Amino acid sequence: MKKNINKITIKTKKSLSAKDYFDGIQKGNRAILSKAITLIESSNIKHQNVAEELIELCLPFSGNSVRIGITGVPGVGKSTFIEALGSYLIAEKDKKIAVLAIDPSSKKSYGSILGDKTRMNKLSVNDNAFIRPSPSSGTLGGVAKATRETTILCEAAGYDTILIETVGVGQSEIEVKSMVDFFLLLMLAGAGDELQGIKRGIMEIADAVIINKADNDNIHNAKMAVREYKNALHLFPANDNGWIPRVASCSAIEDKEIDSVWGVVESFVNQTTLNSSFIENRKEQAKFWLEHAINSSLMTLFYSDEKVKTQLLKLEENVSEGKTSPFKAAKELLLTFKS
Ligand code: GDP
Repeated sequence: MKKNINKITIKTKKSLSAKDYFDGIQKGNRAILSKAITLIESSNIKHQNVAEELIELCLPFSGNSVRIGITGVPGVGKSTFIEALGSYLIAEKDKKIAVLAIDPSSKKSYGSILGDKTRMNKLSVNDNAFIRPSPSSGTLGGVAKATRETTILCEAAGYDTILIETVGVGQSEIEVKSMVDFFLLLMLAGAGDELQGIKRGIMEIADAVIINKADNDNIHNAKMAVREYKNALHLFPANDNGWIPRVASCSAIEDKEIDSVWGVVESFVNQTTLNSSFIENRKEQAKFWLEHAINSSLMTLFYSDEKVKTQLLKLEENVSEGKTSPFKAAKELLLTFKS
């Protein structure tokens, strides 16, 4: 008997193969899905190899979802909104929701963005929802890559609505835009664009601007804000996909107009599916990520090359002392790398 127990222990300790992970994911095993995501986030080369194989296995079963990016400054109500939208979609639309986050800024915000599950009380205990915090370390590029790959695993596990949350303060929106179908910007009434840290660039990439907290004394302000943003968005040229960004308001905390927000997403999906831009966008995104992957692999190869490392030190000195121009130095380094 004891022997058997030991055997079981040994078996569970054995690291899983890509196929083991894949089988678990396809069966909807959430513990295995979580472990697989950890594998994707790992910088260990062995883990990376298994992860790569696993992604290839999952790829044919992925893609069948709507991927939605949700951004807005801290405090705008992103988690409350995701909780409301996710619960609505599960209850009314029979959806399975995966919530992922991109927040490479710091370990501190890792705790506050999604790690703290109390912020999504209902969703975190719902069998039809899977919540995954942002990786706690890594560059933005690395975190974004992991999130994109996590999306593939979640889709293979049967999640048909992927919500990717990001803090609306920086570069991460552009990364998120390159991995979602629909980009939703949450805003507050009366806070002023500057105050909300929202740059024109972010407004330009939004498919919908939703004014949250349209409740109690704030209803009137929210309505005014909707009008203002509608006017502001009018000034932007129409999107290539023919979609005109929508503006609406909701109250995430009171579950008001969450269905209308979803209605906007549905119209978007219908319209862009009809004119094929939905699929075209996905193809463009795949090309973008190919380029991204090539660039980061080249950088790794380049900077880990021993000859480059030695010469770089010398050239850095020459460049900082003004003996060589940065451009000439870069050219020399590339020649060294190629030789
Ligand atoms: P996040 O930082 O963007 O994820 O924002 P949270 O979801 O944590 O919300 C920040 C605060 O705003 C919390 O105290 C929420 O209870 C509150 N809040 C979120 N949505 C609403 C809403 O629709 N109406 C009101 N009045 N408060 C809200």
